[in-house]
Amino acid sequence: MSITPLMPVYPRCGVRPVRGEHCHLISEDGTRYLDFASGIAVNLLGHSNEHLIGAIQRQAATLMHVSNLYGSPQGERLAQRLVDLTFADTVFFTNSGAEAVECAIKTARAYHQHVGNTDKYELITFRNAFHGRTMATISASNQEKMHHGFLPLLQGFKYVDFDDLEGARAVIGPNTAGFLVEPIQGEGGIRDASEAFLKGLRALCDEHDLVLIFDEVQCGVARTGTLYAYEQYGVTPDVMATAKGIGGGFPMGACLATEKAARGMVIGTHGSTYGGNPLAMAAGEAVLDVVANPEFLAQVTATGERLRGRLEQFIGNYPDLFELVRGRGLMLGVKMKVEPRPFVAHMRDNHQLLAVAAGDMTFRVLPPLVIGDAEIDEFMDKLSAAAASYSVESPAT
Ligand SMILES: *Cc1c(COP(=O)(O)O)cnc(C)c1O
Repeated sequence: MSITPLMPVYPRCGVRPVRGEHCHLISEDGTRYLDFASGIAVNLLGHSNEHLIGAIQRQAATLMHVSNLYGSPQGERLAQRLVDLTFADTVFFTNSGAEAVECAIKTARAYHQHVGNTDKYELITFRNAFHGRTMATISASNQEKMHHGFLPLLQGFKYVDFDDLEGARAVIGPNTAGFLVEPIQGEGGIRDASEAFLKGLRALCDEHDLVLIFDEVQCGVARTGTLYAYEQYGVTPDVMATAKGIGGGFPMGACLATEKAARGMVIGTHGSTYGGNPLAMAAGEAVLDVVANPEFLAQVTATGERLRGRLEQFIGNYPDLFELVRGRGLMLGVKMKVEPRPFVAHMRDNHQLLAVAAGDMTFRVLPPLVIGDAEIDEFMDKLSAAAASYSVESPAT
């Protein structure tokens, strides 16, 4: 047999983390890495946050799981907090981002089906989006590399260019149920939508009775300096998927909706065995305890500005390597003039700095939200050393 016990779907690198200490990861061989990837925007509080660990330990010793057959004081508490903190009136808890997007897609379809608009099932989505790896969420993205081998796709998605309001307006038809969009594309290369685009989508939804879904799985939960990115655009969605950072490393997600948008999500329409179990709820509450307060959010914004300023100043030294810095808060991307993947590998293997490659020639800088000047200094030192030692002609692999 030549297949590996771990199904070989990932091109895993040589770093094999076995321990985390605040903003660092320690590999099996003892090497210490500065973690500006955060498990892809997940470990908001770093790797050894006592408040999060304590909450999970206490809950694990009290009650981990009971299923959704029973009343959930733990779920009610976290759902109420999310409702109080956001546009939403109601919350469905999931175990991942893709499941949160799945629930959002079902919510939009059910909204129309509920009142007999049986033709309205199609969502308009945007090129180079990433919504997850389930059949529905790969169908929601135009990226063919995720479709290969998995056809036929789920019907009912139309793709138009990101940030192209006229394009979006032009494809609205009798089957349109709504829009599904990342306010800031993550995998697509940290590309933020313009305010005019998101406001325009909101206006189209209001005009045509469509459902506006934001996928804030990557940009949500304080990453951009507000609890959710939509707050910075002055636009509220009808439905929103959130995950990644929401459990601080514990696997969980949620689909948030207004009462109106959730009108089709009645008893028996959806479910999950684990979703919203007491252990996940304890993790979610512990994360909100830390991030859902104005001082913490202001600190994310200020830290993000300092890091961005340093990055912008720095990239001017290497005009052949770097093009620009973009993003908001601590969701930053550096667009390169060369393939980012070999450079990310070089930073990792030769300078013990972890970042994440993305689309559009960009690498992502997604540190834990608790970094301070010491971590910014270390990051800039490692990045400078990596750029100085990088040869574009013979990139490290
Ligand atoms: C990561 C991501 C997802 C999928 O989340 P999983 O937890 O991997 O299922 C969906 N949407 C966006 C924007 C993401 O970044």
